[in-house]
Amino acid sequence: MAQAETIREPSRETPVLKRTGVLVVGGGAAGVSAAVAAAREGADVTLVERYGSLGGLATGGLIALLLTLDDGRGVPVIGGLCQETVDRLQRAGGAYHPPREQWGSDDPAQVDDAFRWGLVWGGMRASHRVRYSVAYDPEVMRQVLAEMVCEAGVDLIFHMWGADALRSDEPEKGLDGVLFQSKAGRTAILADVVIDATGDGDVFASAGCRFELERVHPWLWFRLGGVDGDPNEIDRSTGYFRTTNPGQVLLPWGSAARIDRRIDATDPRDLTFAELECRRLVMEEVEKLRASRPEMAHAHICNIATQLGITESRRLVGEHVLTRDDVDHDFDDAIAITGHWTKYAAVYAIPYRCLHTAAAPNLLAAGRHISVDHRVHHATKEIPACMAVGEAAGIAAHLALDAGARASAVDVQKLRAQLRARGALLDYFSG
Ligand SMILES: Cc1cc2nc3c(=O)[nH]c(=O)nc-3n(C[C@H](O)[C@H](O)[C@H](O)COP(=O)(O)OP(=O)(O)OC[C@H]3O[C@@H](n4cnc5c(N)ncnc54)[C@H](O)[C@@H]3O)c2cc1C
Repeated sequence: MAQAETIREPSRETPVLKRTGVLVVGGGAAGVSAAVAAAREGADVTLVERYGSLGGLATGGLIALLLTLDDGRGVPVIGGLCQETVDRLQRAGGAYHPPREQWGSDDPAQVDDAFRWGLVWGGMRASHRVRYSVAYDPEVMRQVLAEMVCEAGVDLIFHMWGADALRSDEPEKGLDGVLFQSKAGRTAILADVVIDATGDGDVFASAGCRFELERVHPWLWFRLGGVDGDPNEIDRSTGYFRTTNPGQVLLPWGSAARIDRRIDATDPRDLTFAELECRRLVMEEVEKLRASRPEMAHAHICNIATQLGITESRRLVGEHVLTRDDVDHDFDDAIAITGHWTKYAAVYAIPYRCLHTAAAPNLLAAGRHISVDHRVHHATKEIPACMAVGEAAGIAAHLALDAGARASAVDVQKLRAQLRARGALLDYFSG
């Protein structure tokens, strides 16, 4: 936002809400994984989320598809907490994925079926394969994530907004904690290690760390109910997906229709414009569908995402920036592996160095804003990748507590060993 005029705020005494070992800011897929992983290691963990439920884009954004837990050839690359989440979703009756024997298959009927669920993406003419990807109910996901956080003993606080990083007087430390704003006023949480899982890098930006910023066209996904017809016969060209709920479909609005300019997702003026415009256009789209598609004639809106579909805003410039040239390349300090949602033979190992920066030694980034370039972001932003990175950040934060609270001093091989012990699949390249 343009800021021509400034004022000087009066200095004030700010109450300290609590002290904690690991402070996670942001309760999306990455933040939940980070908090649960750190707590399971035995750390004292506080998770703060600005809204009233968990999941971020994976629930509030209605992005109800865990895309590509595999490499595109049918070989799983993500396990750990993400796989546990899939298992829990399935036990709760809130998930579907193609059976294991189909992963990597190019059988047209099987590929068509996966398309109907929104589990295969990319050009219509490309030769597609069935992926290990999972469609789920976002309400069930909300509940599963809440259970995981509570069971792990994380101190969860909703409705507080991370407003500012609290810089330490000791530069070698980094942050003393984070300042939060809520209806109760301003408060501080002091922490040994901080994990920024806000998706937009709110903490590392306010801490003065280097970052890149993208402007994008937002999406706004929505769900319609009361849809007639056989979900097994949804045609690829409809652009909507079947869900685990009968008569309900998921519509990823934003691929064909768009608002007329790219926006900066950290600018409230841009966001206001996008919220109003996207919602108006979605309502128009619903009317068009009702009028043009017989199976939609009696359809009703179940819900429109409460969060705009935007993954790109700020990205940390960390100790390593993962680029497209790093595809299919292993790293000694890889802490997660991810496939690519539209590519079949593109696998990235994500180095631990993408999560931290010397500019704030006790700060880790987890989720869609880690240190990668624009192209690699399209692989590392996927929910499974965010969960895998979050899990690594959580375990790293616990290890950092014994390493002078310095992210760079963490024994990375110990971190990798612990990740493997927790089910992470880090040995894709070495076999
Ligand atoms: C249109 C679109 C389609 C996509 N399609 C898919 C797909 O099909 N499959 C897939 O796997 N991925 C998909 N993605 C990517 C994926 O949804 C996201 O990248 C992923 O969910 C990001 O998780 P995250 O935890 O890093 O961030 P977020 O989900 O953004 O979570 C950040 C959390 O932090 C909270 N927060 C933010 N700022 C603050 C603050 N200052 N203080 C306190 N809390 C704060 C937010 O409320 C939120 O809960 C898609 C994304 C978009 C936009």
